[in-house]
Amino acid sequence: MNETKGLIFDIQSHSVHDGPGSRTLIFLKGCPLHCEWCANPEGMEYRQRPLYRVTKCVHVKQKCVRCIEKCPYGAIKSSGEEELPLIIDWDKCEKCTTMDCIKACLNDAFVMCGKYYSVADLMRIFTRDINFWGRNGGVTFSGGEPLAQKEFILEVLKQCKEKYIHTAIETSAYTSREHFLNVFKYIDFAFIDIKHMDSDKHKEKTGVGNERILENITDLIESGWPGRLIIRMPVIEGFNDTDENAIATAEFMKNLGLREMNILPFHRLGESKWRQLGKIYPYKDCEGTTDEVLGRIQDIYLDRDILCYVSSDTPF
Ligand code: SF4
Ligand code: SF4
Repeated sequence: MNETKGLIFDIQSHSVHDGPGSRTLIFLKGCPLHCEWCANPEGMEYRQRPLYRVTKCVHVKQKCVRCIEKCPYGAIKSSGEEELPLIIDWDKCEKCTTMDCIKACLNDAFVMCGKYYSVADLMRIFTRDINFWGRNGGVTFSGGEPLAQKEFILEVLKQCKEKYIHTAIETSAYTSREHFLNVFKYIDFAFIDIKHMDSDKHKEKTGVGNERILENITDLIESGWPGRLIIRMPVIEGFNDTDENAIATAEFMKNLGLREMNILPFHRLGESKWRQLGKIYPYKDCEGTTDEVLGRIQDIYLDRDILCYVSSDTPF
């Protein structure tokens, strides 16, 4: 029996925007990139940790101090403000192994982020969901970066293929060439993000350059991989929303024979999650991407014979 375990922060059944048909979506923890606009920041770190949900906390309303009394590191203090009742010294939490705040809170204001699953656990979930997938559905692995937990993702994908389960992935492609090509033997459908074609700019906002990403995409196509690949780009104002970047991305795709792009408008849905992690969302003042900008970028791809889908308006 395989005992490889993966750290997962969310599982969603019946997703219809993450590959063909209805799908079960698995979010793996840990990511080598740190995109400042990330909508799932709780997936960045590879570790279990508590989230603090301000709206559930009754510290001010009911004078509750249960977590403050139980925290072994004295990491929680009262602010007395209704908007943010507790101030948490998250640096102290990094050493914590007990996470007594979660056990102490009767209102679910502290909740655990991240749970370990064995490959067998996930296969049981897929067996439960399989009747809802229909003819085209299956499983999509997302994150975080789903390729980061190397052994686990490889083993789950192998077992999916043994059971003829359709597999999709949402990845940054930022991993070693060897691991990337190996894992893709078991993937049918992929979304790969290209956040910027200029490596310095890519590094400025994500923490890493784009060379490995572009090389992995190139090597995948040249390997004759038979799956369907959609390139994705989150459109971020003042970062990658220029004509120049769209043209460079389109040219890169054309040279490889890639014909499908999915541009995603920026939204601020991740803001509350940044707050739950005790962090300030770097894009909290950024407005959503306008239809005008999306239309302009879409035209650049269409003019170069690349199908360009906007947001969830996709043909799958
Ligand atoms: S994780 Fe540990 S240190 Fe942090 S608030 Fe909870 S009990 Fe305190
Ligand atoms: S135990 Fe829960 S409700 Fe009470 S102060 Fe702590 S977080 Fe708030």
